[in-house]
Amino acid sequence: MIDFTLDAEHQELKEMYQKFAEERVKPLARDMDEKEEFDKGLLKEMQEMGLFGIPFSENYGGQGSDILSYVLAMEEMSKVDASTGITMSVHTSLCCSSINEFGTEEQKQEWLRPLVDGSKIGCFGLTEPGAGSDVASARTVAEKVGDEYIINGEKIFTTNSGFADTFLVFALTNKEAGAAKGMSAFLVDRNTPGITVSPDIPRMGIRGASNAGVSYVDVHVPAKNLLGGEAGEGKGFKIAMKALDGGRIGIAAQSVGIAQGAINEAIKYDKERVQFGKTIASFQNTQFKLAEMQTKIDAARLMTWRAAVAKDKGEAYNVYAAMAKLMASEVANEVTRGCVQLLGGYGYAREYTVERYMRDAKITEIYEGTSEVMKMVISGSMNLK
Ligand SMILES: Cc1cc2nc3c(=O)[nH]c(=O)nc-3n(C[C@H](O)[C@H](O)[C@H](O)COP(=O)(O)OP(=O)(O)OC[C@H]3O[C@@H](n4cnc5c(N)ncnc54)[C@H](O)[C@@H]3O)c2cc1C
Repeated sequence: MIDFTLDAEHQELKEMYQKFAEERVKPLARDMDEKEEFDKGLLKEMQEMGLFGIPFSENYGGQGSDILSYVLAMEEMSKVDASTGITMSVHTSLCCSSINEFGTEEQKQEWLRPLVDGSKIGCFGLTEPGAGSDVASARTVAEKVGDEYIINGEKIFTTNSGFADTFLVFALTNKEAGAAKGMSAFLVDRNTPGITVSPDIPRMGIRGASNAGVSYVDVHVPAKNLLGGEAGEGKGFKIAMKALDGGRIGIAAQSVGIAQGAINEAIKYDKERVQFGKTIASFQNTQFKLAEMQTKIDAARLMTWRAAVAKDKGEAYNVYAAMAKLMASEVANEVTRGCVQLLGGYGYAREYTVERYMRDAKITEIYEGTSEVMKMVISGSMNLK
């Protein structure tokens, strides 16, 4: 039996997230984009509201909800502001989920608890200037000296790094073994000497989010900060791939939110704008365009929910997640471009928000694995050789 509707509990959560997004996030979205800075008051409010701990156990101070609830929150936040969506997503799906899944009990108490109870923010440092899609060419090293590791290397595009407290960073503990078998993940406090965060990288979209390069020069980290303890040595590649598999569900939800937010704006405008003596919404071309776009958004949403529910049930979800991200990110780009067209010249003007949605949409085809990488994951599951 398949049920495509939300149960009462999830519907209630969705309405709560929607209310918060409309009342607290939406009024700040334009300003954050213009100033290229995340609003720290909003960050605090989101922490107090529990938005940074949705799918984590109450035993660690989380909300005790599930991935589907997190997906609903991601859609609602991204519907009004994609920068808010990604700030939540990197913290939750990439940083906290990795600790939750691979950390020792002691690490969960020390590092996960403050991240999910709203005291701290996390980030995830995997990408390097020379290692993007090809994660295996990472060069950052962590050398074991006594009961410490010394990290040296450069990370780039680390979301949240401007204000994050906890850096989950990936480094080679065994260069000869290569990244697939010789990379490990470390829990690092931002105030550790040797860490330098660059100014935020100027960007096309999600400009309200923090995103910077991070350099690690002789960063001494206690050996106990190796994620997973001693058993975690050499598991970094697996941890990173697992985090990205899950993260893609969040990015798919972000894409659905961006698309739904843009179409809502376009509908509102086209019902009011009059040309040739009629509203733009009364032209059949407009109605058919909107119908096509809403159909694609709904398809992307259902694919996203399928991936989320599979993860919640403990079933294989990585291919569903890749399919959902591929589909939803393409839909977000097509729909936001279409919405700019439906507003004409006003769509291109900064005063109306659809141009921001169009700029924000592009990144969903790039981060947490490009569309090409999604196609590698999907085709790899199709027994084509
Ligand atoms: C705003 C933003 C936020 C980000 N946040 C984070 C973060 O928090 N943490 C983090 O670790 N990283 C983050 N990233 C990095 C992001 O995940 C990478 O940019 C992405 O994985 C692509 O890597 P790249 O930019 O090096 O592109 P490249 O890997 O150089 O790819 C360039 C192009 O070549 C294509 N390509 C590459 N290899 C192949 C192939 N084998 N076959 C076909 N096509 C191929 C790609 O699909 C792409 O179109 C972020 C990036 C941005 C821009």
